[in-house]
Amino acid sequence: MNPAPPSFPCAVTIDVEPDPDTGDFEAVRRHLPGLLERFDTRGIPATLFCTSRVVDECGDLLRQVPSQHEFASHACSHRPFTRMTPEERRDELARSKAVIESLGRGCAGFRSPYFCMTDAILREVAQAGYQYDSSWASFGHPIGYHNLWKSKRPVRLEDPAIVEVPIPDATVARIPFGLSFYRAFDPVSRLFHVGRPHLVYLHCDEFQDRLPSADIPRWARPFLGRNRGKRASVLLDRLLDALQRKGARFVTVGDIARSVPGADPSA
Ligand SMILES: [Zn+2]
Repeated sequence: MNPAPPSFPCAVTIDVEPDPDTGDFEAVRRHLPGLLERFDTRGIPATLFCTSRVVDECGDLLRQVPSQHEFASHACSHRPFTRMTPEERRDELARSKAVIESLGRGCAGFRSPYFCMTDAILREVAQAGYQYDSSWASFGHPIGYHNLWKSKRPVRLEDPAIVEVPIPDATVARIPFGLSFYRAFDPVSRLFHVGRPHLVYLHCDEFQDRLPSADIPRWARPFLGRNRGKRASVLLDRLLDALQRKGARFVTVGDIARSVPGADPSA
């Protein structure tokens, strides 16, 4: 029998946001409770990057989320931060943090909608009092590559003073490690997600059958429309099984941020 592989910390994150087409919360209401139940069965503490509107509209549901899961901010309006003024960004950073903290569970982290992140925006995130950001990704809005040469591992920055927990790449093609990648390129993705990712991300909307029309260019639709709904659910289990076999020890993004060398242990 092969010895157990060495363990590695891995965070499962859900971006909890309005449905792309309608702006309502049908996908969140339909799929978030079942996802959390599934994570609880596996002993996975998830990190929920919530928009403030989810808290406003689905506060009843979020208040029932078991305490091992972490809440973090995914801004207010879910608009791309690079298309907002600094004043609008500062308002969303502060307001979303306050609204999420009203759930009584803290809000140490931020993820920018569509992974829109620049050095200037990261400074604003730190100034708003967040201890970590999780937005550096090789691919994002507008659909295309960016932040390619940033660290792919969690890193403590000094200026601005913040921990960045980036989205790891799933393949040499620099595709961020998420259920969307795993679905889009199944079954090839089963062979390619080599390595030991410190983070994977997913959305409630992926468990809806229909691909939303908003925000997705025509060339990407054949990929992102694959394996949604029930099939996404099967593939999520397969992905989690694969990570566990590799030695994943599931933690929150906050746990990862606090463990980065040099981070303030009291944060
Ligand atoms: Zn989002």
